[in-house]
Amino acid sequence: GRKFFVGGNWKCNGTVDEVKKIVNLLNGAADIPPKDKVDVVISPPFVFLSQVKSSLRPDLSVAAQNAWVQKGGAFTGEISAEMLVNLGIPWVILGHSERRLLLKESNEFVADKVAYALSQGIKVIACIGETLEQRESGQALKIIAEQAKAIAAKVSDWNNVVLAYEPVWAIGTGKVATPAQAQEVHADLRKWLKTNVSPKVAESARIIYGGSVSGANCVELAGQPDVDGFLVGGASLKPEFTDIIKAGL
Ligand code: 13P
Repeated sequence: GRKFFVGGNWKCNGTVDEVKKIVNLLNGAADIPPKDKVDVVISPPFVFLSQVKSSLRPDLSVAAQNAWVQKGGAFTGEISAEMLVNLGIPWVILGHSERRLLLKESNEFVADKVAYALSQGIKVIACIGETLEQRESGQALKIIAEQAKAIAAKVSDWNNVVLAYEPVWAIGTGKVATPAQAQEVHADLRKWLKTNVSPKVAESARIIYGGSVSGANCVELAGQPDVDGFLVGGASLKPEFTDIIKAGL
């Protein structure tokens, strides 16, 4: 089976003191399942990566929220994959819808970032998902397939990629996808992988759901056969995050 995966995307939130509080909460949580049962990856803003990395319990992992598309150099304001490696950060979130929409990251740009991060030995949480308009006009599966296709074209080792399906209309809105809606897309994505990558990758690749996941809705979502975990925003800053971590057990 696929190991359950829970990412906590803090987005652009936090202060030194708040980071301390959340890390202390996680470090003190006695009920977090062992690493062989669930992968937990915490993703603070860049400026807090070192603080989190050095203070977080060793069974939980850390991700950056972005990385530059190529080797570092004269790219003011960017953070290179080499720097993440240097800091010992094993994961990066790429292609989040907030970056696709607000910062105009294209399918190709995201795919190039995924390829570069993987080439440097960083594991990738690759995000895809449709907007409300796209869903309402019946294009959700087509849009998601296009996003997956761009990424798949540049990935050779799927062992180091987790796909995150995050419908834009569910992010930060409290309008979580129903378990059936999530399952439909996850199953479709797995079918897409089977046809376009390989049956083996389709079987082993983890597809996680993101968008208004909470302590209240996580167990039902986790019960869907093709939902292999979550990428959590708002609730990852709250005590209920530990309930979400346990949802797959
Ligand atoms: P929310 O859980 O706050 O809806 O955010 C989801 C998300 O975008 C995680 O990457």
